[in-house]
Amino acid sequence: MATQLAYERLSGLGLATTYHAWTRYGLSNRNVVAELPGVSRPSEIVLVVAHLDDMPSGGTAPGADDNASGSTGVLLAAEILAPHRFERTIRLVLFTGEEQGLYGSTVYASLLASQGAGVVAVLNLDMIGYDGDGVPTLRLHTRLPSNPGYPGDLAIAETFRSAVTNYVGEALLPVDEPDGESASDHSPFWNRGWPALLAIEDDIDDFNPDYHTTRDTLATLDPAYFTSYVKASVATAAHLAVPETRPTLFEPVAPCRVLDTRDGERPAGLGAPALSAREIRHFAVASACGIPADAAALAVNVTAVGPEAAGDLTLWPGVGLPPGTSNVSFAPGKVRASFSTLPLGSGASFAVRNGSAGPVHVVVDVSGYFR
Ligand SMILES: [Zn+2]
Repeated sequence: MATQLAYERLSGLGLATTYHAWTRYGLSNRNVVAELPGVSRPSEIVLVVAHLDDMPSGGTAPGADDNASGSTGVLLAAEILAPHRFERTIRLVLFTGEEQGLYGSTVYASLLASQGAGVVAVLNLDMIGYDGDGVPTLRLHTRLPSNPGYPGDLAIAETFRSAVTNYVGEALLPVDEPDGESASDHSPFWNRGWPALLAIEDDIDDFNPDYHTTRDTLATLDPAYFTSYVKASVATAAHLAVPETRPTLFEPVAPCRVLDTRDGERPAGLGAPALSAREIRHFAVASACGIPADAAALAVNVTAVGPEAAGDLTLWPGVGLPPGTSNVSFAPGKVRASFSTLPLGSGASFAVRNGSAGPVHVVVDVSGYFR
């Protein structure tokens, strides 16, 4: 089902992903939650959310606009944000039970409240793909100006508007809508006193006529409008979470072999066996060779030993998709080495992909780290 697909996609990006099972008024389902931990303010949480379930409740329910559009926006945000580091934690959540009455989000918000979670902003994407009149209006629904929570919601809306100005320009026309629209998943967060915003297409002057019908299909959506909407949403999330801009310092270390898959004596995960064909393996090297857990990158020499087929090795932080460029390429039977800078995931982690049809040994020597 859709929750499993989303779970696999998010965990495949290297994000810590969990199901949050809920029951409300006799109905049960599960939300999908993926987390990108903040570097310096991890207890401050930015939520980017959308609902996965759709209408009508019987027969086919394509739900392209409501709400495959917002759900896809969250998945794309995960893919784009995952390789980067932010001061605050970004949590990407796909809810179920929205159409029954915000069930999944209500139970999740109450869980966060019971944990005393530090929610600083909630960005809810619900219907972001339809533009029937060619005017690229989008609406940012906050609470009423008389509500004490209004300034917090408005701050998210302002972040969104400046993201539009800076990243997509006139491709979108954001309009503030301080009307307290409560019919979507941001509303349970308002009820808990947290800043939250509903970002939606023009739901007032250009309402999707196929809403909640079997006609809500991809063909009725506007791909250019949707793409701009996702760009602005990703930028909003990034600015809310504050990109990590700590200056980097290089610390040299005495040359040290941190990883050698030929060596059966090394601790598990830093030694044998060889990487098999097409294998991706994850490593964590904190404390090895004096590398601190908060190291941001390593200066490495990567060596491919004894490959049986032509191919390459790609190293990356292990969060997000592997980059398109490899670190070292090789031919069968040859030893090849290459120097590079390797960005790290949290806990000084990284991943190696064997881009060949045969086994290959990997040796990584470190000459310093960045922090
Ligand atoms: Zn919806």
